[in-house]
Amino acid sequence: MSLLAIENVEKSYVIGKIGVWALKGIDLLIDAGKFVSFIGPSGSGKTTLLNLIGCLDKPSKGKVLINGMDVSHLDRKSSAKFRGGNIGFIFQNFNLLPVLTVYENVEYPLIMVQNVPAEKRKIKILELLEKVGMMEQKDKYPDQLSGGQKQRVAIARALVTEPKIVLADEPTANLDHDTAYKILKIMHDMKNEFGTTFIFATHDTKVVGEAEVIYTIEDGKIIGQTARNAGGK
Ligand code: ADP
Ligand code: MG
Repeated sequence: MSLLAIENVEKSYVIGKIGVWALKGIDLLIDAGKFVSFIGPSGSGKTTLLNLIGCLDKPSKGKVLINGMDVSHLDRKSSAKFRGGNIGFIFQNFNLLPVLTVYENVEYPLIMVQNVPAEKRKIKILELLEKVGMMEQKDKYPDQLSGGQKQRVAIARALVTEPKIVLADEPTANLDHDTAYKILKIMHDMKNEFGTTFIFATHDTKVVGEAEVIYTIEDGKIIGQTARNAGGK
């Protein structure tokens, strides 16, 4: 069984009397522990698709199955609970909390979502900060960090709850090219380390990084799929 199955998913948004079809029939299967990229121009439906996988929104038609469980019809409370236990998010704008230190930003989901005791939290947070290379900055605040450093913290924060899937929406859009590749390399290393499935979206065809499976999306449809060996550039 695939970790993630998307079956005939369509999504429309209604603005006033006009319907916009953001997704027009998506089918895909993603196995556990893969590094997957959705590539396509702005407006092609990448964010919509990530939001459906992350249970932040519901499809208009079709199903999203995670580990065989249909998550497309969970109510608000159940989907929040499901997200907290299974999904991590990384955003284009990093979304770190400015009043918290690096350490506290990574700690936040463990307190808010999972209620993990302090000693256990500390071990996990320090392990992740070490792995993403941010141990020395652990007491700094986000505005004292570069973009690449902020995204490293965001990766640690996404992984700290040990999710099965990490969704990264344009995680490199605000980074220069070199930093973008480093960030994707860290995500790929974390995938190998923890067996987490990473799915990232990008409009930049140069930033496929270490992706093992690449889906090209255009106008709400998958128009191409490429599989290749990780790191085999
Ligand atoms: P991408 O992430 O590839 O840029 P999106 O998934 O954000 O694409 O958008 C796909 C299409 O759906 C676009 O035409 C966009 O304008 C539309 N869309 C996305 N979100 C909304 C929304 N909340 N309300 C109305 N239309 C939306
Ligand atoms: Mg988008």
